[in-house]
Amino acid sequence: MFEKILIANRGEIALRIQRACREMGIKTVAVHSEADADAKYVKLADESVCIGPAASALSYLNVPAIISAAELTDAEAIHPGYGFLSENADFAERIESSGFVFIGPRAETIRLMGDKVSAKDAMKASGVPCVPGSDGALPDDPEEIRRIAKSVGYPIIIKAAGGGGGRGMRVVHTEGALLNAVAMTQAEAQSAFGNPVVYMERYLQKPRHIEIQILADEHGNAIHLGERDCSMQRRHQKILEEAPAPGLDSKLRDKIGERCAAACRKIGYRGAGTFEFLYEDGEFFFIEMNTRVQVEHPVTELITGVDIVQEQIHIAAGEPLRYKQKDIVFRGHALECRINAEHPYTFVPSPGRITAYHAPGGPGIRVDSHVYQNYFVPPHYDSMIGKLLAHGATREQAIARMRTALMETIIEGVNVNIPLHQDLMEDTNFIQGGTSIHYLEQKLAKPTHS
Ligand code: ADP
Repeated sequence: MFEKILIANRGEIALRIQRACREMGIKTVAVHSEADADAKYVKLADESVCIGPAASALSYLNVPAIISAAELTDAEAIHPGYGFLSENADFAERIESSGFVFIGPRAETIRLMGDKVSAKDAMKASGVPCVPGSDGALPDDPEEIRRIAKSVGYPIIIKAAGGGGGRGMRVVHTEGALLNAVAMTQAEAQSAFGNPVVYMERYLQKPRHIEIQILADEHGNAIHLGERDCSMQRRHQKILEEAPAPGLDSKLRDKIGERCAAACRKIGYRGAGTFEFLYEDGEFFFIEMNTRVQVEHPVTELITGVDIVQEQIHIAAGEPLRYKQKDIVFRGHALECRINAEHPYTFVPSPGRITAYHAPGGPGIRVDSHVYQNYFVPPHYDSMIGKLLAHGATREQAIARMRTALMETIIEGVNVNIPLHQDLMEDTNFIQGGTSIHYLEQKLAKPTHS
């Protein structure tokens, strides 16, 4: 096992990884920007190194500075967390060629899955069902594009092969709008992702977002840890996640989970990963794979008892998987509310000093957050300041516990989205379960919120 790990991230996930390491007796190195110098998790780490100014491009995305920090502190492995460099194949390659271990898949796997066209091809070849659409990248010939759209069937969605973060997508309802939409998405994709390749999918009208968590080692073993329902989204960004997915048949879950595990064995996947699907009318359609730990991983931890971050570390150290599929037992129901420093209904970010803070507690409650009273939420990064989780024997109990926990939470000095989560915990459609990815935006478009 490693003696020392460098954590190339910030905020709650930096603290989460640090906690996993401490429990395993591994020393940690925190790298941080000037804006995060006073963060408590930086002080709690065994060592810390400032890698640049506040702007992410000069610090958390600064590959040479991160590798120098690892050399300076003699760390053996680097955990990238999520966001920032976590899905950057060049970063993974640079780490390994500098003699460190990247806690994640091989660079070539990240590259394969980072291009959505090649990812879909690989999944099709592995027997994972995909959203019907163009066979790979769209050709140049306008007639050919029209013909493909007709055979896929309107409405369709044009998506960038290199896209991410909910950007680089355009819905088309009629043939008249088709070619212009393709040209505009190509131009945007070129400027945002440096890759003009686009492809086409059928636009699903009322899907749910359901994803499968997997773990795979470098010895050819792979298992799934069940699903998460992440349909509650605004601007294609998740805000509330849960496991299991309400109303999903467990046999169907096991079947799609095993398909994902089999695909991992086929492509030689290593580490933790997530297969994202749209789910409509009882069918799963693959949209993309995330080759890293996800924000919402704790809901799976709560219902399975598996520490996903620790498993990532065991796998990176070359150990065979410590669980077999039959060891994975799902217990109860878990919910996660992402707590963002933003206006609950306009989503305008609200950085600043937290003047009062009180975290909730009690049976089944978990708080993953790096903030505290007097913490300054910097304006330079994502607005998420923590995650509040509730676990219960049933979904009803998890919701009841979440209501109490939201009511107990005190965060003053910045706007937080707790009122939105409280609103959702009373929403009859949410309580019933199974709302689509469009539900929250439709709800917010109505004049009253509850
Ligand atoms: P990104 O990498 O930018 O997150 P995804 O391919 O994961 O892109 O899609 C993000 C979101 O966009 C999905 O969760 C869903 O809300 C919507 N979306 C993507 N593809 C489709 C589709 N074919 N039909 C309907 N909605 C889609």
